[in-house]
Amino acid sequence: MTSPTGRAPGAARCSACEAVCCRLMVVLQPEDHIPEHLTTYLPSGLHVMKRGEDGWCVALNGARMNCGIYETRPSVCRRFVMNGPYCKAIRAEY
Ligand code: SF4
Ligand code: SF4
Repeated sequence: MTSPTGRAPGAARCSACEAVCCRLMVVLQPEDHIPEHLTTYLPSGLHVMKRGEDGWCVALNGARMNCGIYETRPSVCRRFVMNGPYCKAIRAEY
């Protein structure tokens, strides 16, 4: 069933979400070119986006709750689907 807006009732919208997916670990890929100060290496050697003490990715624009490097954001972030199963699961958990 969909609402008059065409979305399922309760469907998430990034514009009305606290960027919950930006609390997930973002593993960087060879094709990503992210400024070094925004990234870190885990003890395992994985290259990931750095997260702040608040749990959010340091590239998040906290005032607007959107990505501060949107045009050059990591490929993992580009593939993350609004209202996809993973989006729904992490929002439910949050
Ligand atoms: S993709 Fe999902 S979790 Fe991420 S900001 Fe959009 S609605 Fe929120
Ligand atoms: S790079 Fe941007 S889209 Fe990806 S987790 Fe960080 S703030 Fe979110």
